[in-house]
Amino acid sequence: MTLELMPGGVNSPVRAFKSVGGQPIVFDSVKGSRMWDVDGNEYIDYVGSWGPAIIGHADDTVNAALIETLKKGTSFGAPCVLENVLAEMVISAVPSIEMVRFVNSGTEACMGALRLVRAFTGREKILKFEGCYHGHADSFLVKAGSGVATLGLPDSPGVPKGATSETLTAPYNDVEAVKKLFEENKGQIAAVFLEPVVGNAGFIPPQPGFLNALRDLTKQDGALLVFDEVMTGFRLAYGGAQEYFGITPDVSTLGKIIGGGLPVGAYGGRKDIMEMVAPAGPMYQAGTLSGNPLAMTAGIHTLKRLMEPGTYDYLDKITGDLVRGVLDAGAKTGHEMCGGHIRGMFGFFFTAGPVHNFGDAKKSDTAKFGRFYRGMLEEGVYLAPSQFEAGFTSLAHTSQDIEKTVEAAAKVLRQI
Ligand SMILES: *Cc1c(COP(=O)(O)O)cnc(C)c1O
Repeated sequence: MTLELMPGGVNSPVRAFKSVGGQPIVFDSVKGSRMWDVDGNEYIDYVGSWGPAIIGHADDTVNAALIETLKKGTSFGAPCVLENVLAEMVISAVPSIEMVRFVNSGTEACMGALRLVRAFTGREKILKFEGCYHGHADSFLVKAGSGVATLGLPDSPGVPKGATSETLTAPYNDVEAVKKLFEENKGQIAAVFLEPVVGNAGFIPPQPGFLNALRDLTKQDGALLVFDEVMTGFRLAYGGAQEYFGITPDVSTLGKIIGGGLPVGAYGGRKDIMEMVAPAGPMYQAGTLSGNPLAMTAGIHTLKRLMEPGTYDYLDKITGDLVRGVLDAGAKTGHEMCGGHIRGMFGFFFTAGPVHNFGDAKKSDTAKFGRFYRGMLEEGVYLAPSQFEAGFTSLAHTSQDIEKTVEAAAKVLRQI
């Protein structure tokens, strides 16, 4: 069947069920907190299209706006007013962003940011953290999270040594390791890239002081600090992790939520840095469909909904209830588990923890996670099919959805 049509039967490896067993489910439709597969089975969804569905799937207001935009055409290949609208919304929301460039995916956003930090600093090395995923550009495929972690690929074949030779890596939350790398590579590191809260190695928040230390170390060395907020942007707070933690990077990348389910990415930062980008400056980066009206529309109306009062408090409450409920059930059934959440982003590991980095995350019992996963699927709960991915809630998830999910988890945890 689809295995013969597409590698692994999917168009993105994280969708396959390789690490949890079984075949990926083929879906027919989504609405609110729910997904329906082609056989008519209903699931409560905690993947949310990997983040974009934060106001719920197929939101009526977003859909209505998309239909209106569609009537005017799908792509101009020339400026459209909607780009200005979303740009203004992003700039006023995200503390570090004074100017923005829209692209078509998070991968592209990170590629653009990578070229930008090198162009601006005239330096070539970058520092990233083990288990952090910054899309699939060659230079980032070193100790990367997400599908790379799930499938246990140390590096991908096809990536030339030259592409990763300037990529330094350190364990997440390890300030001493970062200090040492800065001492050994003084004046040579263009930027430190990180997920300000890791979601692509499971859910791993920064330890108190970690983000501050990175801000100080980069400043001292004349390097830039890049927050990859493709996942955390507009999820942890309207202004992203940088607003939530009160640390302002020099450059940020966005994606997922700002496209409201259509393909979008963005990178932005200080004006003096962004003015490097063509045609304002000499750093080349382009895109045929970048800033297209449909994607801008979905983004604008998704952000408008998120701007309403109480949205992040609501996400925090239901997600907290979910995580506490599942961890309680785990404790009662004698499973070693740990987990946490910030606003609408969460995760669990089958290890006593604490989990501060990818090495800790890998202590999780992935075989048990596989059994838990399949059990939850039977109960009509769709989680990310990997221990090394964060989960997401949405404004469409109700307390009843959460109760049902916690009951399902309690039942499955008794069985496995
Ligand atoms: C999803 C993600 C990306 C890649 O975005 P795509 O749109 O899948 O290319 C990059 N960085 C982070 C932190 C992500 O979560």
